[in-house]
Amino acid sequence: MPGPDQQGMEYGMFTNPVQGEQRSLYQELVQVNRKLEQKVQELNRAQQRLMEYRKVFECTGDLIYVFDRDYRYLMANEAYRDCRKSLFPDLIGRTLPEVIGTDTFARVKPQIDACFAGNELSYEDSHHYVDKGTRDLLVTFSPVFEGERVERVACLIKDVSERKHLEEQLRQSQKMEAIGTLAGGIAHDFNNILTVIAGYASLIQINGEESEAAAMAGEILFSVERAAEMTRSLLAFSRKQEVHLETVDLNLLVAELHKSLARLISEEIELVVRVSGGEVCCVADRGQLEQVLINLAVNARDAMPGGGTLEICTGIAELEDEEVAPGRYALITVSDNGTGMAKEVQERIFEPFFTTKEVGKGTGLGLSSSYGIIKQHNGAIRMHSECGTGTSFRVYLPLSGERPRVESDGSEGRLGAGSGTVLLAEDEETVRDMTRLLLERHGYQVLTARNGQEALELYRHNQGRVQVLLSDVIMPRMNGRELCEQVRQLAPGLPVIFMSGYPADVMSEKGLCGGGAYLQKPVKPEELLGALRRALCV
Ligand code: ADP
Ligand code: MG
Repeated sequence: MPGPDQQGMEYGMFTNPVQGEQRSLYQELVQVNRKLEQKVQELNRAQQRLMEYRKVFECTGDLIYVFDRDYRYLMANEAYRDCRKSLFPDLIGRTLPEVIGTDTFARVKPQIDACFAGNELSYEDSHHYVDKGTRDLLVTFSPVFEGERVERVACLIKDVSERKHLEEQLRQSQKMEAIGTLAGGIAHDFNNILTVIAGYASLIQINGEESEAAAMAGEILFSVERAAEMTRSLLAFSRKQEVHLETVDLNLLVAELHKSLARLISEEIELVVRVSGGEVCCVADRGQLEQVLINLAVNARDAMPGGGTLEICTGIAELEDEEVAPGRYALITVSDNGTGMAKEVQERIFEPFFTTKEVGKGTGLGLSSSYGIIKQHNGAIRMHSECGTGTSFRVYLPLSGERPRVESDGSEGRLGAGSGTVLLAEDEETVRDMTRLLLERHGYQVLTARNGQEALELYRHNQGRVQVLLSDVIMPRMNGRELCEQVRQLAPGLPVIFMSGYPADVMSEKGLCGGGAYLQKPVKPEELLGALRRALCV
């Protein structure tokens, strides 16, 4: 059939009036036809757009439904229909109370009515599903206006369980960071106090020789050692402990520990060790790692008072986690079939001083220090526990790598007489007095300063005399590093010994330990005297 334009060309050949009228009529027809075609195209496009909307509406995982002022369902997407289909294969036309139940309806009705009054509303809720368990939901009611009046309400229900879980994880790790800072600060100040107690106690011991006071001082020193153990745990938790990294084969480590662990647990507990076929090497501080395993084993033992099985396994595993770089990690698993833990306990186990054990039995520092140690190793510690079934801890550590071994000078000197003049800079009065007394009793002459600036002045006035500078690191007005730099400008070769409540690696990270020997508080008197002797020898 010829097209309208073609026909138009044919009509165009007519010239009389009637033919002219016909022609204009025809042209009108052509125009109408064109408009009609345009409309059809527009309609098609609108339909396509509508289909797109519908697709989005149907495909989204969020649940969406719309209802009118009689609370009757007008539409519902597939996700929502799926949820309800077992009981209500056809929703449209049914009412909300019928479908969601009168109790739930009564609970949400105030929100719905507020929405019909023109307000958009959101609230969080939770729902228990047979297949998915309890999920956290974000429910939003949006008003749909017809002119001024809200005729319908659209409800969107979003499953926010994953987001809530991540938020909870973030909150937890922020809490641990905050407690870590607090614990680190306390441990630091405590180390100052312990230094003083230990110093005076050893002076009493030295002066008293065989006396009763000397014996008591020995007891004090014993307690100081226990307290220092606690501050070490706290520093471990706040990741301010010195680490000595080396490549450690976890299979060997576990095998070596086997005997001590077997001794640690009671006879009713069976110890099963399963090491993986190949080597499982990681970069770690061997001593600290042993401590972590002992902590975990002791906890497992305590969770199995009537006996059970303690299983330690090694291997390599993938870890996808927000806290550490995703990838392959060396893995140690420590599992028991003991009491397990309730959820409230699980949430708090890594907090320092959290214990469920009776007074004198637990310090609540085992897991917190383990947590800090593993974190400091750029690893992760994960736990799974069920009441009555048991608990399993998984420790992930970076696989063996390139980091060099860090050696510290841990050698301790013998107590003995020395000689020479020491310039002592320390802002803590008690530490300063005790140290001066200790040094004087051991034959040294001591000049004391309360801060870096005073020390520098003293040095300028006694240049020929001072043979060694003994300095705290963090002090007001001028810190230890600045003091060291200034003094070394006057006397380049002067030996310097730093004392600090923070470990050497933390100090050097902050650039404070500018080339001197380093002692960590609480400083044992024999360590201090040993360091002085070594400094004065060179
Ligand atoms: P402590 O052992 O001194 O109580 P931890 O930090 O080692 O301190 O442990 C904290 C708490 O975690 C324990 O008191 C206990 O309630 C719980 N816990 C740790 N490990 C286990 C385990 N394997 N089974 C059951 N509960 C455990
Ligand atoms: Mg413990």
